Amino acid sequence: MPFAYAKTGMSLIVQKYGGTSVGSIERIKIIAQKVCDFQAKGHKTVVVVSAMSGETNRLTALAHELQAQPDPREMDVLLSTGEQLTIALLAMALQNCGCDVRSYTGSQVRIITDSVHTKARIREIEQSKIKHDLDKGRIVIVAGFQGSDEKGNITTLGRGGSDTTAVALAAALNADECQIYTDVDGVYTTDPRVVAEATKLDNITYEEMLEMASQGAKVLQIRSVEFASKYSVPLRVLSSFVDGEGTLISAEEGRMEQALISGIAFNRDEAKLTIVGVPDQPGVAHHILGPIGNANIEVDMIIQNVGVDGTTDFTFTVHRQDYEKTFKLLQTIAADLGARDVSGDTKIVKIALVGVGMRSHAGIASTMFAALAKESINIKMISTSEIKIAVVVDEKYLELAVRALHDNFDLAKAE
Ligand code: ASP
Ligand code: MG
Repeated sequence: MPFAYAKTGMSLIVQKYGGTSVGSIERIKIIAQKVCDFQAKGHKTVVVVSAMSGETNRLTALAHELQAQPDPREMDVLLSTGEQLTIALLAMALQNCGCDVRSYTGSQVRIITDSVHTKARIREIEQSKIKHDLDKGRIVIVAGFQGSDEKGNITTLGRGGSDTTAVALAAALNADECQIYTDVDGVYTTDPRVVAEATKLDNITYEEMLEMASQGAKVLQIRSVEFASKYSVPLRVLSSFVDGEGTLISAEEGRMEQALISGIAFNRDEAKLTIVGVPDQPGVAHHILGPIGNANIEVDMIIQNVGVDGTTDFTFTVHRQDYEKTFKLLQTIAADLGARDVSGDTKIVKIALVGVGMRSHAGIASTMFAALAKESINIKMISTSEIKIAVVVDEKYLELAVRALHDNFDLAKAE
């Protein structure tokens, strides 16, 4: 991607406002004032907006009244209007504040994507218009979530895609920071609805955020964090409703002090399946997971037991919505392989401790297991990476387990 906006003395900031932040005319007026004040402090300001809250769902429902599986190209033409509406309204509100402003749809900017309708990926962003406007002292507003392909067809980036638009623009313009304004004031040590003492993190690394996000902390679209990491865009999550510094997501280098554990993520959307008594011989893992992969089912944790008497058990997790389909496939595979049985469990959760501090500290896993044992919580599966330890436990223990771990690792005092 061609990223080369020469830095001037002034800082260039990309701000993104999500659906609830621009959910009504009242909210749009408030955001306009904020943006106007921000620019007046001397920042070159690019604003990316989502559709007003509920709008993308409303448009989707309209399409479904006509087609059970809406035509993807037309779906993109339809969905992109949500953001087009917001950019125009915000531009008018900013004009009322006395600001010079220009709004653009994704295809007007020329945010060029591939042609995969409803989940397109950004390939290139033309900077000339934006750069020209910024140099003239204008605020630039860009519709999130959309672009167009080489042939000019409108495309969208998948749900939550405005985050990715903002980060991609920040990368393209070599912005000093990309600020994602939302309805929470930052990234927390865990979900405050589960642990009331959860605290906001001042900073977190890209890697940790990716683990937190993929484990189910749904603050940001995962792809936007990958993008930010790839292009080293400092990313800040903050509230558009209350003042504060939010949480800065950035690279690990140069961090002053590293907390051992940054947070606890959990995911209630998985299910586990086991194929029991498969022959313990070369090619079996491939024989089991090949057809699952071919059916486009994503596998997360995988465990294979040591063989006893020439057979072994093979367990893995999938998204809960893929459970039935996987179970059926596994029955066919079991018959093929001469395996004894197939079993499954949908009432599980995955809980993960995340922290780059783990890299340089031993014993975190045993502390974690001790904390769960103390609460008599049985661990069904374990997987680890350099910065994560994840366990699968019974769904009914979710709250208890997360609270016990939050307590044990002193996360309430994390700051
Ligand atoms: N409006 C789109 C959605 O609701 C994109 C976004 O908000 O980021 O998913
Ligand atoms: Mg969003």
